Amino acid sequence: MARHFCRRCGIRKPLNAEHFYRDTNRPLGFRPTCICCMRAMALVRAHARYQRLKDEPWFREQNTAHVKSWRQRNPERFRAYQRAYQRKDK
Ligand SMILES: [Zn+2]
Repeated sequence: MARHFCRRCGIRKPLNAEHFYRDTNRPLGFRPTCICCMRAMALVRAHARYQRLKDEPWFREQNTAHVKSWRQRNPERFRAYQRAYQRKDK
């Protein structure tokens, strides 16, 4: 099986859809960065965006509405988060 070094973490992984996102625009047929790293980068970017926007009133409003609707859709998960948060706090 073809293997490929992830450009970011440098770990050699099998070159397939389980470890790399497909990208038909590339000669490889896959992205040069593994899925783990892509997810990590997405998280970092989302966090950076949050840090940048958290004091903007329009963003806070949007975020509050989003969190509220998420809570209504996922009450068990919200309670689990709450419990985890309270434990960490003490
Ligand atoms: Zn990687």
